[in-house]
Amino acid sequence: MDLLELIIEYHKDNERQGPGSKEATLKALKLIPHLNKKTKILDIGCGTGEQTITLAKNTEAHITAVDMLPQFLETLMKRVKENNLIDRITAKEMLMDNLTFEENSFDVIWSEGAIYNIGFEKGLSLWRKYLKDNGYIAVSEISWLTDTRPDEIEGYWVNAYPEIDTIENKLSVIEKCGYSNVAHFILDDKCWLDNYYQPLIENAEAFLRKYNYADEVKEFVEAGKIEADMYYRFKEYYSYVFYIAKKKQ
Ligand code: SAH
Repeated sequence: MDLLELIIEYHKDNERQGPGSKEATLKALKLIPHLNKKTKILDIGCGTGEQTITLAKNTEAHITAVDMLPQFLETLMKRVKENNLIDRITAKEMLMDNLTFEENSFDVIWSEGAIYNIGFEKGLSLWRKYLKDNGYIAVSEISWLTDTRPDEIEGYWVNAYPEIDTIENKLSVIEKCGYSNVAHFILDDKCWLDNYYQPLIENAEAFLRKYNYADEVKEFVEAGKIEADMYYRFKEYYSYVFYIAKKKQ
């Protein structure tokens, strides 16, 4: 069992693979003007597609959803069929740092809980060319909520994701990458606990049983519990923040 297989098996039947909520997706969506039938949205790191479905149900747009894991895209496609959205959503297996679209082809780029995989600055820089002039980007990214924080949580997250930074610094990175900031908001507790950690914790025992309590599986589940515990203890210091920005000319 390698780590990627464990990640796939632990997450593939869940609605989400990162913190978020329908309400947060809709709040970000409302900040983007002029959405219509011709709008093309690219959803990067879509996972099993909770936000993809929400975007499709609440716009008339066409959505292209990309992820590197075919197992997640398979779950997404099941949901697409169940919701009768086949003509509105196209799913493609693709790496987010090697997208194969034409330049200037999307009105909106969406990415929830995923850009960190290649880094916020790299993602924003690489993806900009796929947006049409005046296109929008809506992206969620883990951020510090205060200027200082206890060493324990600082050490934990800097080790896990060195690019974690304050909202102010994230806003500067957005500008530096060629966008103007439109709005941002902090994701609430429910996005982390009810929608992300809770389902994983509920599934932990069955998951361990399935793999006969193998050491590497125990370690993997334990690492998830430690992450959730960090959130319970230190949530006033960090969260995911949704950033909405417009491509600068
Ligand atoms: N947007 C979803 C999934 C977030 S988890 C949600 O909010 O629920 C991050 C996703 O990024 C996972 O589905 C993972 O498979 C995908 N991913 C990670 N690295 C990637 C890469 N280099 N290219 C494409 N997808 C990647």
